[in-house]
Amino acid sequence: MIIAIDGHSSCGKSTIARALARRLNISYVDSGAMYRAVALFCLKKGIDPMDPVHVVQALPGIHLKILPSLPVRIELNGEDVTDEIRNPEVSKWVSEVAAISEVRREMVRLQREFGHNNSLVMDGRDIGSVVFPEADFKFFVTAEPEIRARRRYRELQEKGIQVDYDEILSNLLHRDHLDSTRSDSPLVQTKEAILIDTSHLGFEEQLQLVLQYIQKS
Ligand code: C5P
Repeated sequence: MIIAIDGHSSCGKSTIARALARRLNISYVDSGAMYRAVALFCLKKGIDPMDPVHVVQALPGIHLKILPSLPVRIELNGEDVTDEIRNPEVSKWVSEVAAISEVRREMVRLQREFGHNNSLVMDGRDIGSVVFPEADFKFFVTAEPEIRARRRYRELQEKGIQVDYDEILSNLLHRDHLDSTRSDSPLVQTKEAILIDTSHLGFEEQLQLVLQYIQKS
């Protein structure tokens, strides 16, 4: 079984995806973490994320290992970068890197490998449209931008990361814009995808809604 969960930045899709995987006892893959790891690698190596030629040249030196157990961990060239990929600097540049076709091709290849022999929930931007167009279930998750920014602000504060609310809001609007307008695999709601607006739903309500759709079929 493949469950694809796509949607806007910081709308709570990975929280739903993780809980769903736990509930259904299947794997969870956070595809955004993979793009974040590529962006982190570029930043660490001093490669300009806006320079596609150098980013593409760096790809053979990037080895990602995703451990789809819960909680999910991601390793970049043998180093656990699960926490580091959430840094605001990575958030700032990740969508530039994710717009590069060669980067996407490599990430999609890895993502499909996961789905080969595994039942899983995968969240991202192009999972239902490109990675697994034949997914058994497709959801498209969104929420009002201000509500998403507030949630993200609280989350980072709780982790002790000092951030500015306006910066978070502008970062997520910027990422939504880049993700929805890029030429390769833009963020779209496919016609089969079920829309879940989390703006005024608590976490348990979101999960129940998704589970209802799955259990109904
Ligand atoms: O899901 P998350 O917000 O962590 O993803 C970070 C970024 O990675 C997104 O803003 C998007 O640019 C990119 N991404 C993507 N395709 C995916 C998952 C993430 O382009 N399937």
